[in-house]
Amino acid sequence: MEKIKMTTPLVEMDGDEMTRILWKMIKENLLEPYIDLKTEYYDLGLEHRNETNDQVTVDSAMATKKYKVAVKCATITPNAARMDEYDLKEMWKSPNGTIRAILDGTVFRAPIVVKGIEPCVKNWKKPITIARHAYGDVYKGSEMKIPGAGKVELVYTAEDGSQTKELVHEFDGPGIVQGMHNLNKSIESFARSCFTYALDTHQDLWFATKDTISKKYDHTFKDIFQEIYDAEFAEKFEAAGIEYFYTLIDDAVARVMKSEGGYIWACKNYDGDVMSDMVSSAFGSLAMMTSVLVSPEGYYEYEAAHGTVQRHYYKHLKGEETSTNSVATIFAWTGALRKRGELDGIQDLCDFADRLEKATIDTIESGEMTKDLALITTIENPTVLNSEGFIKAIAKRL
Ligand code: NAP
Ligand code: MG
Repeated sequence: MEKIKMTTPLVEMDGDEMTRILWKMIKENLLEPYIDLKTEYYDLGLEHRNETNDQVTVDSAMATKKYKVAVKCATITPNAARMDEYDLKEMWKSPNGTIRAILDGTVFRAPIVVKGIEPCVKNWKKPITIARHAYGDVYKGSEMKIPGAGKVELVYTAEDGSQTKELVHEFDGPGIVQGMHNLNKSIESFARSCFTYALDTHQDLWFATKDTISKKYDHTFKDIFQEIYDAEFAEKFEAAGIEYFYTLIDDAVARVMKSEGGYIWACKNYDGDVMSDMVSSAFGSLAMMTSVLVSPEGYYEYEAAHGTVQRHYYKHLKGEETSTNSVATIFAWTGALRKRGELDGIQDLCDFADRLEKATIDTIESGEMTKDLALITTIENPTVLNSEGFIKAIAKRL
């Protein structure tokens, strides 16, 4: 069989731990036998990020601006324990945070729905897509430890030198403080991507913040969404028979639990981080969730929504068998290959992505799956496969 040819490279961002192991298996078993894979490779594994002073992360994001489509493996976000484990020069920032700050845009996450894996929220009948704002807030925050008594203020110095101050707190003892920001331009493109995606996928759009408490910060998000909706989207939504609905974040959480699903839930950066894990777990598994960052300029970065599955990796290092679910990582590749095919006009690449997704879903629906799914499936007597066995079962079907 002749391999499918590519004309433009995909930006390939390799990662860490168990997902790095899966990455290699996916390429060897599911991609390279069928595609003349053309990628520009960036090793975002923590060791290499440390060697390059994290420059490799910035370079990979810049390459995404050049080639428009990237596929990313899960990566470690260092904490104190990782500083020791990897002997790091610095506690490098989250690569996803760095990439999102460079590309801007919105992350859309939707569950991969499979027969036999039923959501544990019993009234959820349709997928819930989370649209996560991918710029600013705590991910671009500045923080200080306050050693003792003293005054903390926010100071804005305008270009003409004039200053506006706002008291944060008069400390009478040690404490902590955090400053964060967002940009109207980024919130506007977040709003536009959400409204556009809602129209594309013909689903209602929900948006929620804590504007009653955060009367300037969160309220600005609410106002910008409403202005853009009224000016550019209200008529289109009406014509399409879909709705835009704003409420408080705590009210939204309560309503989501009682809903049927089938809408897009737009979230600020942190809310989206947390809520996407809740939604994906409730739909089955963290490993059954697609995730794509869509920038306002039309750059796409596909990834899995879960982390590097550290616990499984340590078992793997000890020579023990693992049963790690590779579905989200496979769908990151299919998403990127399909988009590459669309942009370059290579129908074979799009068709291949469809076939690989179908082979993956059929494998699970026929009862062959990893342990995380076997524990929750309604299919009787499922066959539990190990990490490699599952990928090989998909390859056989493909
Ligand atoms: P995690 O990798 O998402 O895994 C948490 C737990 O969820 C696992 O221990 C496992 O449960 C289950 N799980 C997640 N993905 C699975 C899969 N594909 N197949 C089967 N089970 C799966 O989170 P973590 O262990 O807390 O974080 C590990 C590292 O990932 C951290 O260093 C963190 O910084 C990083 N992280 C990266 C990203 C990203 O790059 N996008 C996102 C989140 C976290 P059991 O152990 O019960 O089997
Ligand atoms: Mg998260």
